[in-house]
Amino acid sequence: MQNTLAFEFEHRPSPRRRTSAIEIAQGRVLVRTPMQVSIAHLQPWLKEREAWVLAHLTKQQSSIDAHRIEMSQGASIPINGDPYELYWRFSESSSLIWHPKEIEVFLPHHLYHNPQARVRRMLQAELKQKAAHQFQLALMQLSAQTGLKPKKLEVKSYRRRWGQCSSDKIITLNWRLIHARPDVQRYVMIHELCHLQEMNHSVRFWSWVARFCPNHRELSAELRDKSSWLQW
Ligand SMILES: [Zn+2]
Repeated sequence: MQNTLAFEFEHRPSPRRRTSAIEIAQGRVLVRTPMQVSIAHLQPWLKEREAWVLAHLTKQQSSIDAHRIEMSQGASIPINGDPYELYWRFSESSSLIWHPKEIEVFLPHHLYHNPQARVRRMLQAELKQKAAHQFQLALMQLSAQTGLKPKKLEVKSYRRRWGQCSSDKIITLNWRLIHARPDVQRYVMIHELCHLQEMNHSVRFWSWVARFCPNHRELSAELRDKSSWLQW
């Protein structure tokens, strides 16, 4: 059937759903419905909500643009919530140096005409290592404070999530969380630690989270706003 709406959407029917809902994340529209709802039934329902969806998409796009991480001279790279200016220069060998408010990358001369891919690779490797070290310490502290003990921590690269907790008690954090402020990082770690108690997002789960992180709603909303950090 022809999509007559002013936006694209993905339809995801589920046997567990009783009502339909629209989710907008990372500039994409996802429509979750009960099994029996067809696209033909969905079209007029979405048509009524078209203005609302478009307003959200526009708002989300402007926050995606505002927080996009770009490889350009003088670009702002948030690290633990603090902005660092990125610069690169050409030299005999490659290296990366941290200054108080600046990250300086040295590149070999032959990359003069196409430096971005190498800068990206070097910066990502550096941040991944920094995140692994820092998150290990932070998670150990939070584990001691909460009494929730994971089997181990892994730091990985994800495009759609900040963290994960597996049923065998392994917590995985996205290294890109290094961009967030420490209180936002702490919320994600608390969230994953609480999955050791409840492997779901039930009321009981959220009451565990609230026990250690009363302002979790605010912090997770902030992270949703920074979804473009997942995209570089
Ligand atoms: Zn969760």
